[in-house]
Amino acid sequence: MRCWIEVSRGRLVANFEAIRQLVGPRVEVCPVVKADAYGHGAVEVSRVLAAAGTRWLAVSSLDEGLELREAGLSTRILVMADLPAAEAVRHNLTLAIHDLASLPDLARLSPTGTRTSYHLKTDSGMGRLGTRATPTEVARAVAAHASALELEGIMTHFASAANYDTGQTEAQLARFSAMLAALPARPRYVHTSATVPVAYARRSAWGDMIRPGHAIYGYVSPIARGQAPARELEVRPALAWKARLLTIKDIPAGEPIGYGAMYRAPAPMRIGIVAAGYADGIPHRLGNKGSVIAGGRIVPMVGAVSMDVSTIDLTTVPSAKPGDTVTLLGEVNGVSIDAQQIARLAGTISYSVLCGISARVAHVYVD
Ligand SMILES: *Cc1c(COP(=O)(O)O)cnc(C)c1O
Repeated sequence: MRCWIEVSRGRLVANFEAIRQLVGPRVEVCPVVKADAYGHGAVEVSRVLAAAGTRWLAVSSLDEGLELREAGLSTRILVMADLPAAEAVRHNLTLAIHDLASLPDLARLSPTGTRTSYHLKTDSGMGRLGTRATPTEVARAVAAHASALELEGIMTHFASAANYDTGQTEAQLARFSAMLAALPARPRYVHTSATVPVAYARRSAWGDMIRPGHAIYGYVSPIARGQAPARELEVRPALAWKARLLTIKDIPAGEPIGYGAMYRAPAPMRIGIVAAGYADGIPHRLGNKGSVIAGGRIVPMVGAVSMDVSTIDLTTVPSAKPGDTVTLLGEVNGVSIDAQQIARLAGTISYSVLCGISARVAHVYVD
Protein backbone atom coordinates (compact mmCIF):
# COMPACT_ATOMS: atom_id res chain seq x y z
CA MET A 1 0.00 0.00 0.00
CA ARG A 2 1.32 3.41 -0.95
CA CYS A 3 -1.28 5.54 0.79
CA TRP A 4 -3.94 4.55 3.28
CA ILE A 5 -6.11 5.59 6.20
CA GLU A 6 -6.25 3.70 9.47
CA VAL A 7 -9.60 4.03 11.19
CA SER A 8 -9.84 3.04 14.82
CA ARG A 9 -13.05 1.17 15.61
CA GLY A 10 -12.38 1.69 19.31
CA ARG A 11 -12.22 5.47 18.87
CA LEU A 12 -15.47 5.53 16.88
CA VAL A 13 -17.20 3.59 19.63
CA ALA A 14 -15.63 5.71 22.38
CA ASN A 15 -16.79 8.91 20.63
CA PHE A 16 -20.30 7.50 20.16
CA GLU A 17 -20.38 6.47 23.83
CA ALA A 18 -19.14 9.88 24.98
CA ILE A 19 -22.00 11.49 23.08
CA ARG A 20 -24.55 9.01 24.46
CA GLN A 21 -23.24 9.61 27.96
CA LEU A 22 -23.55 13.38 27.60
CA VAL A 23 -27.10 13.44 26.22
CA GLY A 24 -28.44 10.61 28.36
CA PRO A 25 -30.80 7.74 27.59
CA ARG A 26 -33.81 9.87 26.62
CA VAL A 27 -32.14 11.41 23.60
CA GLU A 28 -31.68 9.13 20.59
CA VAL A 29 -28.23 9.47 18.99
CA CYS A 30 -28.42 9.30 15.20
CA PRO A 31 -24.83 9.24 13.91
CA VAL A 32 -24.40 10.91 10.52
CA VAL A 33 -22.52 8.67 8.08
CA LYS A 34 -23.09 10.67 4.89
CA ALA A 35 -20.24 11.29 2.45
CA ASP A 36 -18.80 7.83 3.09
CA ALA A 37 -18.81 8.56 6.82
CA TYR A 38 -16.80 11.75 6.31
CA GLY A 39 -14.15 9.73 4.46
CA HIS A 40 -13.96 6.96 7.08
CA GLY A 41 -15.91 4.35 5.06
CA ALA A 42 -19.69 4.34 5.59
CA VAL A 43 -20.26 0.58 5.59
CA GLU A 44 -17.64 -0.30 8.16
CA VAL A 45 -18.36 2.74 10.36
CA SER A 46 -22.08 1.89 10.28
CA ARG A 47 -21.39 -1.73 11.23
CA VAL A 48 -19.24 -0.62 14.14
CA LEU A 49 -21.89 1.84 15.37
CA ALA A 50 -24.71 -0.67 14.90
CA ALA A 51 -22.74 -3.20 16.96
CA ALA A 52 -22.30 -0.48 19.60
CA GLY A 53 -26.08 -0.13 19.74
CA THR A 54 -27.14 2.70 17.46
CA ARG A 55 -30.74 2.39 16.29
CA TRP A 56 -30.50 5.19 13.74
CA LEU A 57 -28.03 6.36 11.10
CA ALA A 58 -28.32 9.39 8.82
CA VAL A 59 -27.11 9.79 5.25
CA SER A 60 -27.65 12.44 2.58
CA SER A 61 -28.71 10.47 -0.47
CA LEU A 62 -30.83 7.45 -1.32
CA ASP A 63 -27.75 5.83 -2.88
CA GLU A 64 -25.89 6.17 0.41
CA GLY A 65 -28.83 4.58 2.21
CA LEU A 66 -29.09 1.76 -0.32
CA GLU A 67 -25.37 1.03 0.02
CA LEU A 68 -25.94 0.45 3.73
CA ARG A 69 -28.99 -1.74 3.14
CA GLU A 70 -27.03 -3.80 0.57
CA ALA A 71 -24.29 -4.27 3.16
CA GLY A 72 -26.92 -5.71 5.51
CA LEU A 73 -27.43 -2.78 7.89
CA SER A 74 -30.89 -3.02 9.42
CA THR A 75 -31.00 0.11 11.61
CA ARG A 76 -33.39 2.91 10.80
CA ILE A 77 -31.80 5.17 8.19
CA LEU A 78 -32.73 8.81 7.75
CA VAL A 79 -32.07 10.20 4.25
CA MET A 80 -31.58 13.91 4.78
CA ALA A 81 -31.12 15.45 1.34
CA ASP A 82 -32.82 13.61 -1.49
CA LEU A 83 -36.18 13.36 -3.25
CA PRO A 84 -39.01 10.87 -2.74
CA ALA A 85 -38.47 7.66 -4.72
CA ALA A 86 -39.89 4.14 -4.66
CA GLU A 87 -36.55 2.61 -3.50
CA ALA A 88 -36.78 4.58 -0.28
CA VAL A 89 -40.09 3.00 0.64
CA ARG A 90 -39.03 -0.44 -0.62
CA HIS A 91 -35.85 -0.45 1.48
CA ASN A 92 -37.28 1.19 4.58
CA LEU A 93 -35.23 4.35 4.20
CA THR A 94 -36.86 7.24 6.05
CA LEU A 95 -36.97 10.43 4.05
CA ALA A 96 -36.56 13.93 5.33
CA ILE A 97 -39.14 15.90 3.35
CA HIS A 98 -38.16 19.51 2.61
CA ASP A 99 -41.15 20.75 0.73
CA LEU A 100 -44.87 20.25 1.33
CA ALA A 101 -45.27 19.62 -2.40
CA SER A 102 -43.33 16.36 -1.95
CA LEU A 103 -45.97 14.92 0.40
CA PRO A 104 -48.41 13.86 -2.37
CA ASP A 105 -45.45 12.23 -4.20
CA LEU A 106 -44.49 10.24 -1.13
CA ALA A 107 -48.15 9.38 -0.43
CA ARG A 108 -48.45 7.93 -3.93
CA LEU A 109 -45.43 5.71 -3.27
CA SER A 110 -46.81 4.45 0.00
CA PRO A 111 -48.30 0.94 -0.36
CA THR A 112 -52.06 0.84 0.26
CA GLY A 113 -52.99 -0.11 3.76
CA THR A 114 -49.68 1.08 5.25
CA ARG A 115 -48.47 4.42 6.52
CA THR A 116 -45.02 5.47 5.41
CA SER A 117 -43.15 7.46 8.01
CA TYR A 118 -41.23 10.60 7.17
CA HIS A 119 -39.47 13.43 8.94
CA LEU A 120 -40.41 16.94 7.94
CA LYS A 121 -37.59 19.45 7.75
CA THR A 122 -38.47 23.05 8.35
CA ASP A 123 -36.32 26.02 7.48
CA SER A 124 -36.25 27.92 10.75
CA GLY A 125 -33.88 30.55 9.40
CA MET A 126 -30.86 28.86 7.83
CA GLY A 127 -32.14 29.53 4.33
CA ARG A 128 -31.25 26.16 2.95
CA LEU A 129 -33.21 22.89 2.98
CA GLY A 130 -36.58 22.73 4.71
CA THR A 131 -40.05 24.10 4.15
CA ARG A 132 -40.71 27.76 4.76
CA ALA A 133 -44.47 27.23 4.84
CA THR A 134 -46.37 28.77 7.75
CA PRO A 135 -47.24 26.59 10.77
CA THR A 136 -50.90 26.55 9.64
CA GLU A 137 -49.99 25.40 6.13
CA VAL A 138 -47.72 22.69 7.56
CA ALA A 139 -50.40 21.46 9.95
CA ARG A 140 -52.95 21.33 7.12
CA ALA A 141 -50.63 19.42 4.73
CA VAL A 142 -49.61 16.92 7.41
CA ALA A 143 -53.28 16.25 8.23
CA ALA A 144 -54.26 15.97 4.57
CA HIS A 145 -51.87 13.04 4.05
CA ALA A 146 -52.26 11.37 7.41
CA SER A 147 -53.93 8.26 6.01
CA ALA A 148 -50.90 7.34 3.85
CA LEU A 149 -48.10 9.09 5.71
CA GLU A 150 -46.99 9.28 9.30
CA LEU A 151 -45.16 12.37 10.49
CA GLU A 152 -42.60 10.57 12.64
CA GLY A 153 -40.15 13.41 13.03
CA ILE A 154 -39.80 17.14 12.67
CA MET A 155 -36.40 18.63 12.25
CA THR A 156 -34.43 21.76 11.49
CA HIS A 157 -30.75 22.66 11.18
CA PHE A 158 -28.78 25.59 12.62
CA ALA A 159 -26.68 27.92 10.53
CA SER A 160 -24.45 29.41 13.23
CA ALA A 161 -24.60 27.10 16.24
CA ALA A 162 -21.04 27.91 17.31
CA ASN A 163 -21.51 31.65 17.19
CA TYR A 164 -22.66 32.90 20.59
CA ASP A 165 -22.26 36.50 19.42
CA THR A 166 -25.49 36.32 17.46
CA GLY A 167 -29.02 35.36 18.45
CA GLN A 168 -29.52 33.33 15.29
CA THR A 169 -29.75 29.94 16.97
CA GLU A 170 -32.23 31.21 19.59
CA ALA A 171 -34.29 32.81 16.82
CA GLN A 172 -34.26 29.56 14.88
CA LEU A 173 -35.32 27.63 17.97
CA ALA A 174 -38.19 30.06 18.61
CA ARG A 175 -39.49 29.70 15.07
CA PHE A 176 -39.12 25.95 15.25
CA SER A 177 -41.07 25.82 18.53
CA ALA A 178 -43.88 27.85 16.99
CA MET A 179 -44.05 25.31 14.17
CA LEU A 180 -44.12 22.46 16.65
CA ALA A 181 -46.89 24.10 18.65
CA ALA A 182 -49.10 24.37 15.57
CA LEU A 183 -49.04 20.63 14.91
CA PRO A 184 -52.02 18.62 16.15
CA ALA A 185 -49.64 16.19 17.91
CA ARG A 186 -45.98 16.19 18.78
CA PRO A 187 -44.17 13.76 16.45
CA ARG A 188 -42.09 10.97 18.02
CA TYR A 189 -38.77 12.62 17.11
CA VAL A 190 -38.10 16.32 17.37
CA HIS A 191 -34.50 17.03 16.34
CA THR A 192 -32.30 19.98 15.53
CA SER A 193 -28.75 19.40 16.75
CA ALA A 194 -25.59 18.40 14.92
CA THR A 195 -22.20 18.24 16.67
CA VAL A 196 -21.81 21.81 17.95
CA PRO A 197 -25.04 22.19 19.98
CA VAL A 198 -24.29 18.79 21.51
CA ALA A 199 -20.66 19.54 22.36
CA TYR A 200 -21.48 22.92 23.89
CA ALA A 201 -24.46 21.40 25.69
CA ARG A 202 -27.23 23.56 24.25
CA ARG A 203 -29.71 21.28 26.02
CA SER A 204 -32.76 23.25 24.97
CA ALA A 205 -32.04 22.17 21.39
CA TRP A 206 -31.56 18.45 21.91
CA GLY A 207 -35.18 17.39 21.66
CA ASP A 208 -35.68 13.64 21.25
CA MET A 209 -32.82 13.02 18.88
CA ILE A 210 -29.47 14.50 17.89
CA ARG A 211 -27.56 14.14 14.61
CA PRO A 212 -23.82 14.24 15.30
CA GLY A 213 -21.45 13.68 12.41
CA HIS A 214 -18.10 15.37 13.06
CA ALA A 215 -18.05 14.38 16.74
CA ILE A 216 -18.40 10.69 15.88
CA TYR A 217 -15.14 11.02 13.97
CA GLY A 218 -13.48 12.87 16.83
CA TYR A 219 -13.87 16.54 15.98
CA VAL A 220 -15.79 19.52 17.30
CA SER A 221 -15.61 22.50 14.99
CA PRO A 222 -15.82 25.38 14.60
CA ILE A 223 -14.65 26.44 18.05
CA ALA A 224 -17.41 28.46 19.69
CA ARG A 225 -17.22 32.27 19.53
CA GLY A 226 -18.54 34.84 21.99
CA GLN A 227 -20.07 34.09 25.39
CA ALA A 228 -20.00 30.33 24.89
CA PRO A 229 -20.47 27.87 27.71
CA ALA A 230 -17.75 25.31 28.38
CA ARG A 231 -17.49 22.45 25.96
CA GLU A 232 -18.80 19.31 27.63
CA LEU A 233 -17.89 16.71 25.04
CA GLU A 234 -14.47 15.07 24.74
CA VAL A 235 -13.84 13.14 21.54
CA ARG A 236 -10.68 12.10 19.74
CA PRO A 237 -9.91 11.68 16.03
CA ALA A 238 -10.62 8.16 14.77
CA LEU A 239 -8.65 8.42 11.56
CA ALA A 240 -4.94 8.49 10.73
CA TRP A 241 -3.71 9.03 7.17
CA LYS A 242 -0.41 7.58 6.06
CA ALA A 243 1.76 7.15 2.98
CA ARG A 244 5.07 5.58 2.06
CA LEU A 245 8.27 7.38 1.29
CA LEU A 246 8.94 6.44 -2.32
CA THR A 247 12.45 7.77 -2.50
CA ILE A 248 14.90 10.13 -0.82
CA LYS A 249 17.43 12.32 -2.53
CA ASP A 250 20.00 15.03 -1.94
CA ILE A 251 19.43 18.38 -3.60
CA PRO A 252 22.21 20.95 -3.94
CA ALA A 253 21.72 24.52 -2.71
CA GLY A 254 19.82 26.73 -5.12
CA GLU A 255 17.99 23.91 -6.92
CA PRO A 256 14.22 24.13 -7.46
CA ILE A 257 11.76 21.52 -6.19
CA GLY A 258 8.59 20.50 -8.01
CA TYR A 259 6.06 22.21 -10.31
CA GLY A 260 6.58 25.88 -10.88
CA ALA A 261 9.78 25.85 -8.83
CA MET A 262 7.67 27.04 -5.90
CA TYR A 263 10.53 26.16 -3.57
CA ARG A 264 14.27 26.50 -4.00
CA ALA A 265 16.69 24.72 -1.65
CA PRO A 266 18.34 27.44 0.46
CA ALA A 267 21.15 25.03 1.35
CA PRO A 268 22.00 21.45 0.43
CA MET A 269 19.04 19.41 1.59
CA ARG A 270 17.59 15.93 1.72
CA ILE A 271 14.12 15.63 0.37
CA GLY A 272 11.64 12.80 0.58
CA ILE A 273 9.06 12.02 -2.10
CA VAL A 274 5.83 10.89 -0.39
CA ALA A 275 3.29 8.66 -2.17
CA ALA A 276 0.33 10.98 -1.69
CA GLY A 277 -0.78 13.98 -3.71
CA TYR A 278 -3.86 16.04 -4.37
CA ALA A 279 -5.50 13.10 -6.17
CA ASP A 280 -5.37 11.34 -2.81
CA GLY A 281 -6.93 14.34 -1.14
CA ILE A 282 -4.02 16.41 0.11
CA PRO A 283 -5.19 20.00 -0.37
CA HIS A 284 -3.20 21.58 -3.18
CA ARG A 285 -2.92 24.71 -1.08
CA LEU A 286 -0.65 22.88 1.37
CA GLY A 287 2.21 23.39 -1.11
CA ASN A 288 5.12 25.02 0.81
CA LYS A 289 2.82 25.25 3.87
CA GLY A 290 1.86 21.86 5.19
CA SER A 291 3.79 19.38 7.29
CA VAL A 292 3.86 15.66 7.94
CA ILE A 293 5.29 13.42 10.65
CA ALA A 294 8.42 11.54 9.56
CA GLY A 295 10.84 9.75 11.88
CA GLY A 296 8.69 10.86 14.82
CA ARG A 297 9.01 14.58 14.13
CA ILE A 298 7.11 17.24 12.25
CA VAL A 299 8.81 18.13 8.96
CA PRO A 300 7.71 20.68 6.35
CA MET A 301 6.26 20.05 2.91
CA VAL A 302 8.39 21.83 0.34
CA GLY A 303 7.29 22.78 -3.16
CA ALA A 304 3.93 22.20 -4.81
CA VAL A 305 1.67 19.27 -3.96
CA SER A 306 1.53 17.19 -7.16
CA MET A 307 -1.27 14.89 -8.27
CA ASP A 308 0.30 11.69 -6.96
CA VAL A 309 3.21 12.74 -4.77
CA SER A 310 4.38 15.46 -2.42
CA THR A 311 7.85 16.51 -1.35
CA ILE A 312 9.05 16.95 2.22
CA ASP A 313 12.23 18.19 3.83
CA LEU A 314 13.99 15.25 5.49
CA THR A 315 17.23 17.07 6.28
CA THR A 316 16.53 16.67 10.01
CA VAL A 317 15.62 12.97 9.73
CA PRO A 318 18.85 11.24 8.62
CA SER A 319 17.47 7.80 9.55
CA ALA A 320 14.61 7.98 7.01
CA LYS A 321 14.71 5.45 4.19
CA PRO A 322 12.53 4.55 1.20
CA GLY A 323 9.51 2.48 2.22
CA ASP A 324 9.18 4.22 5.59
CA THR A 325 5.73 5.35 6.64
CA VAL A 326 5.00 9.05 6.80
CA THR A 327 1.95 10.31 8.73
CA LEU A 328 -0.06 12.99 6.95
CA LEU A 329 -2.71 13.16 9.67
CA GLY A 330 -2.58 11.38 13.00
CA GLU A 331 -0.46 10.94 16.08
CA VAL A 332 2.95 9.33 16.49
CA ASN A 333 4.46 9.15 19.99
CA GLY A 334 2.77 12.31 21.19
CA VAL A 335 3.40 14.31 18.01
CA SER A 336 0.21 14.96 16.08
CA ILE A 337 -1.38 16.68 13.11
CA ASP A 338 -5.17 16.78 12.91
CA ALA A 339 -7.69 17.73 10.25
CA GLN A 340 -8.30 21.10 11.87
CA GLN A 341 -4.63 22.08 11.64
CA ILE A 342 -4.48 20.96 8.02
CA ALA A 343 -7.66 22.88 7.27
CA ARG A 344 -6.32 26.09 8.79
CA LEU A 345 -3.19 25.94 6.63
CA ALA A 346 -5.17 25.08 3.52
CA GLY A 347 -7.79 27.79 4.07
CA THR A 348 -10.64 25.32 4.40
CA ILE A 349 -12.56 23.44 7.11
CA SER A 350 -11.80 20.11 8.78
CA TYR A 351 -14.94 18.55 7.25
CA SER A 352 -13.60 19.25 3.79
CA VAL A 353 -10.17 17.76 4.61
CA LEU A 354 -11.75 14.49 5.80
CA CYS A 355 -14.30 14.28 2.97
CA GLY A 356 -11.51 15.10 0.53
CA ILE A 357 -9.58 11.89 1.22
CA SER A 358 -10.13 10.19 -2.08
CA ALA A 359 -11.60 6.80 -2.93
CA ARG A 360 -8.26 5.44 -4.12
CA VAL A 361 -6.79 5.72 -0.62
CA ALA A 362 -6.94 2.26 0.97
CA HIS A 363 -9.03 1.80 4.12
CA VAL A 364 -7.56 -0.16 7.02
CA TYR A 365 -9.61 -0.75 10.17
CA VAL A 366 -7.83 -1.29 13.45
CA ASP A 367 -9.16 -1.93 16.93
C1 LIG B 1 -24.23 16.92 8.06
C2 LIG B 1 -25.40 17.15 8.90
C3 LIG B 1 -25.35 16.88 10.27
C4 LIG B 1 -24.07 16.51 10.99
O1 LIG B 1 -23.29 17.67 11.16
P1 LIG B 1 -21.95 17.68 12.04
O2 LIG B 1 -21.60 19.10 12.17
O3 LIG B 1 -20.95 16.90 11.25
O4 LIG B 1 -22.26 17.01 13.32
C5 LIG B 1 -26.53 17.00 11.00
N1 LIG B 1 -27.68 17.38 10.41
C6 LIG B 1 -27.77 17.67 9.10
C7 LIG B 1 -29.06 18.09 8.52
C8 LIG B 1 -26.63 17.58 8.29
O5 LIG B 1 -26.71 17.88 7.00
